[in-house]
Amino acid sequence: MIQDIYPHQLKNEYHPEKKAHPDSPIFVFEGADVLIKNDEQLAIPRRGDFPDDAEAIFLFQVDDVDYYLLKMKPIIVPNGYRFVPVRQIRAVATEPKELIFATYTAWQLAHWYRDNYFCGTCGSRTVLSKTERALVCPECGRLIYPRIIPAVIVGVTNGDEIVLTRYADRPIAYNALVAGFMEIGETFEQTVEREVMEELGLKVKNLRYYKSQPWSIVDDILAGFYCEVDGDPTIHRDPHELKSAVWTRREDIVLQPDDYSLTNEMMREFKEGRQ
Ligand SMILES: [Zn+2]
Repeated sequence: MIQDIYPHQLKNEYHPEKKAHPDSPIFVFEGADVLIKNDEQLAIPRRGDFPDDAEAIFLFQVDDVDYYLLKMKPIIVPNGYRFVPVRQIRAVATEPKELIFATYTAWQLAHWYRDNYFCGTCGSRTVLSKTERALVCPECGRLIYPRIIPAVIVGVTNGDEIVLTRYADRPIAYNALVAGFMEIGETFEQTVEREVMEELGLKVKNLRYYKSQPWSIVDDILAGFYCEVDGDPTIHRDPHELKSAVWTRREDIVLQPDDYSLTNEMMREFKEGRQ
């Protein structure tokens, strides 16, 4: 999965006292695009590629290397670099994997900083906390932490079959599992039951937690569950959400082209008989 970068490690401890050096790697975002080098291998700019007076915020470490976020308007693009959509990073480059995960994580922090420039309670300009990764409103005292949105991925099974879906709003059609956001007042178990009922019209039983995955591109933490259909297995697909939803035998499962998603790992686990 995207976060599986062993032996590398993304360390999220916050060190506001750290200052970027000219050779520190720095993320630069504009809209939903990230600045990368014109290379097959993913590479990002260095602090020294930008003017000294542009602000650089410490983000995190990968192993012992500090990564920063450039705050600069307008952005002067250094020679040899270009903006690409963060969502396309996986297609542009497959290595180094730890930098792809770091890019997703940096993007989550970058748009959190951007979207909380003003306090949502009183409208004042927020400032960086000096002690923790938070934004503080100096007027009303509000503390704003990075937003993490829980969602579920669900493998609905019936013996040697699992329901594979294709989502109606995705341009690229890969097989997927049932997925959905948690709503207010729900437990994970209730989210699973509601999403499967809404999308497939099926009742489920025997829920088993599998693994979780940070999916920073949309601020998600995904929790994966397997469960079994309870009673009638006839699918009543929600046509607004799903283009297709089909009971599929283990051996007929076609996986996604890369192994970044929890969805793909869960399909593979089932295909290879470990679930
Ligand atoms: Zn405020």
